[in-house]
Amino acid sequence: MYRYRRNNGFSRPYSYTQISSWVFIIIQIIVFVVLTLPLLTLFHLIAACIMFFFSLSLLIYFWIRVSLARLIDDASYNIDTARLCNYCCANVNSESKHCKICNKCVPKFDHHCGILNTCIGMGNYKFFICLLLSLLLYNCAIAGFSGRMIGDYFISNEEFVHRSRRIGRFINIHASVVMNFLLCISSGLINVVILFLLVFHLYLRINHLTTYQYIQQSRNKREDQIRTGETINSNVNKTEIDNIKVTPAC
Ligand SMILES: [Zn+2]
Ligand SMILES: [Zn+2]
Repeated sequence: MYRYRRNNGFSRPYSYTQISSWVFIIIQIIVFVVLTLPLLTLFHLIAACIMFFFSLSLLIYFWIRVSLARLIDDASYNIDTARLCNYCCANVNSESKHCKICNKCVPKFDHHCGILNTCIGMGNYKFFICLLLSLLLYNCAIAGFSGRMIGDYFISNEEFVHRSRRIGRFINIHASVVMNFLLCISSGLINVVILFLLVFHLYLRINHLTTYQYIQQSRNKREDQIRTGETINSNVNKTEIDNIKVTPAC
């Protein structure tokens, strides 16, 4: 019987987190282009345009590269180290892992990313790191220049007042500041998460681990601790029972 197998990140069905992230990025772009850029000074406007559109191009490029990567065990396994995948009913490389969401064996499986709706493995891990770096740059540009616009609003220098009067005919300046504040905070928070992910993956690289192996190791350690705790407890209980037995009755 045929079972669905996901080819890449753009294969249907799309995940809710994937759709949400697309919608969020589109909102970010609209707010930044319509409510931030027009209120910047000419110097900041040029700098913001270069940084924003450059990082956005990188983001789109790496998003597509990660999503379209062909991640499937090509059956070129070494017969001595190969193992049988019970889901694929086929021999696969020893480092491959079956992703139940994509229903395929992925070489050097790292994790399944819900936002990208695809696995991260040998075929796209480097692009995934580049995607994180471009996301960091993109959100830095947004947070930095929307923060700059808010700063200009509170300082209210002559140039800003002149600009806001000109643009105020089309958009509400106060509403624009509120939207820029939300944009700045959300981009800053996203950057905190991305930085954490980058540090985490640096740690994994140093220790020659994948995310999946790290999770498995942590789980095994926890299970060992629970088992050791149970053994100590049972030994303590046994000693207590023995003590009761040898204590002479008064
Ligand atoms: Zn498999
Ligand atoms: Zn997957």
